[in-house]
Amino acid sequence: MGAPKAYVQTGDIGHWIGGAAFGGSGARKQTVWNPTQGTAACQVLLASVEDVNAAVAAATAAQPAWGDTPPIRRARVLNAFLGLLNEHKDRLAAMITAEHGKVFTDAQGEVMRGIDIVEFACGVPQLLKGDYTDQVSTGIDNWVLRQPLGVVAGVTPFNFPCMVPMWMFPLALACGNAFILKPSERDPSPSLLMAELLKQAGLPDGVFSVVQGDKVAVDALLTHPDVKALSFVGSTPIAQYIYETGAHHGKRVQALGGAKNHMVVMPDADLDQAVDALIGSAYGSAGERCMAISVAVLVGDVAERIVPRLAERTRALKIKNGMELDAEMGPIVTREARERIEKYIGIGVEEGATLVVDGRGHKVPGFEQGFFTGGSLFDHVLPSMRIYKEEIFGPVLVCVRVADLAQALALVNAHEFGNGVACFTSDGGVAREFARRVQVGMVGINVPIPVPMAWHGFGGWKKSLFGDTHAYGEEGVRFYTKQKSVMQRWSGSIGRGAEFAMPTVR
Ligand code: NAD
Repeated sequence: MGAPKAYVQTGDIGHWIGGAAFGGSGARKQTVWNPTQGTAACQVLLASVEDVNAAVAAATAAQPAWGDTPPIRRARVLNAFLGLLNEHKDRLAAMITAEHGKVFTDAQGEVMRGIDIVEFACGVPQLLKGDYTDQVSTGIDNWVLRQPLGVVAGVTPFNFPCMVPMWMFPLALACGNAFILKPSERDPSPSLLMAELLKQAGLPDGVFSVVQGDKVAVDALLTHPDVKALSFVGSTPIAQYIYETGAHHGKRVQALGGAKNHMVVMPDADLDQAVDALIGSAYGSAGERCMAISVAVLVGDVAERIVPRLAERTRALKIKNGMELDAEMGPIVTREARERIEKYIGIGVEEGATLVVDGRGHKVPGFEQGFFTGGSLFDHVLPSMRIYKEEIFGPVLVCVRVADLAQALALVNAHEFGNGVACFTSDGGVAREFARRVQVGMVGINVPIPVPMAWHGFGGWKKSLFGDTHAYGEEGVRFYTKQKSVMQRWSGSIGRGAEFAMPTVR
C-alpha cells in the first residue's frame, strides 16, 4: 500500500439540512484542532436553537414519504450508499486521522466496522417482516408489524466520528425514520461527507441532516416535541443527563456511557498472547476507545512474569504522525484531554501506585507542538485509587494484583462500569464460569476487545448504558420502530351483539 493521502481542512465546517450545506445563524463557532501539529485547523459552526428547528422541520416534512417507501427500496438506497462508502473509505479514514489523531490503519478499521452495519441494514425487509396468526379466535386473525417512529436523532462522541454515527443512522433510515445527527464538535468533518454520500445514493432531501454543535444543539433536540427518540454515545455523566432529560420529554432514549474495561490474566494463560492483547487494547487509539482495556487484573504469579514484558513493550511503542503506516499510536485529541490524562498520572503517583512507565512529556520529532503523550503503565494499583475507579480515557494501563478467579470476578463486578471485559486463560471451565458470572455487557475470552458484529448489537451494563436496548443489530431495529398489533374480523363472523365481558377465545 502506498502512502495514504492526508486530509486538509479548509474553511468553516457547517451543517447539512434539507439535502444541502446549511450555514444557519453562524453566530457561534469553535476551533477544530489538528492534534498532530497542535495547531488550529478550522472552525466548526455551533448550531442555535433555530438551526436545530430548521433541521427538525426538514426531517418532519420528509419522513412520511420515506416511511411509506417500501423497505426494499429503502434498502436499495442503503446499498448504493454502501458502494459509495467503499469508494470513499480511505478519504473518510484520512479525515478521522486529521481531526482525531488516531493512526490511519485504525481509522480504516473504524470505517469498515461502520460499513458492516450498513451491510446489515441492507437486509431490512427481512428484519421488518411481521408476525401473523391465523384464527386467534374463531373468525379472527391477528398480525403484528413494526412502524417507524418518525424523526429521530443521534448525538455522538469524538472517538469514533464515523463508526458510532453508523451504529445509529443506517438502521434508523432503513426502518423508515428521518435522522438528525449531532456529531462531536471535535471531529465534525466525516459527518458531512457521509451526508453527501447519502444524497448521492438517492436518499430524499431532509431524511438525513447534520447539526454541528454543543449543548445548545443537544438540548434543542432533547426537548423538541417532534423528535421521537434519541440515541447517545459519550461519557457517563452526559449519558445519564440525556437519558433523564429525554425521558422527561417523553422520548425513547438509549444512552451509552463510559467504561473501565478489565482484562483478567489467569496463571494458565498464553502470556505471549496476553502481552500482545494488553499492549494493543490499552494503547491502540491512544486508549481513547470505550472498549480499550485500562485495567489488567493479574492473577496469582502472573504479575511477576508479565509486568516487565509490558514495560518493555510500552516503552517501545511507535508514537508518531498517524498518517505514517507503521505508527502504533498517534496524538491525543486535544491539549485539554492530554492535560487531563497526564494529571491522572500525577494522581496515581500521589496515591502510592508504582509508575513503571511514565509517558508524560513525550515529544515526537517534527511535531513538538502536537498533543502527544507516551504510553504509561502502573503496577500495585488498589481498588480504592482514583486511577482505578475513574475513566482516564488515555494510554494509561493500571495493573491490579489478585489471588484467584473469585477475587478477579469480585473486583470486576464491584466496578460501577460494565462495558467490556476479557479473560485470558487456557481452561475452558474457567472461561465458562467467568463468562456466566461476570456483570458486564460484552465479554471476551482470549479476545481483548469483544465488540460484537453488526447483527449482534453493542451495549454495556451498569453505568455504561442507560436504556433498555443495545445499539444496532436486532435491538437497533426494535429501538427505531414501534410495534403495532392489528386484529381483524370480517362480516361472516360478526353478529354476536354487544359484548360486555372481556372477550375470550371462542
Ligand atoms: P462527551 O460525553 O463529552 O460528548 C459526547 C457528545 O455529547 C458530544 O456530541 C458532545 O457535543 C455532547 N455533549 C457534551 N457535553 C454535553 C452536555 N453538557 N450536554 C449535552 N450534550 C453534551 O464524550 P466524548 O469526550 O466526546 O467521548 C468520550 C466518551 O465517550 C468516553 O467516556 C467514552 O467511554 C464514551 N464512549 C462510549 C461508548 C460506548 O459505546 N459505551 C463508545 C464511544 C465512546
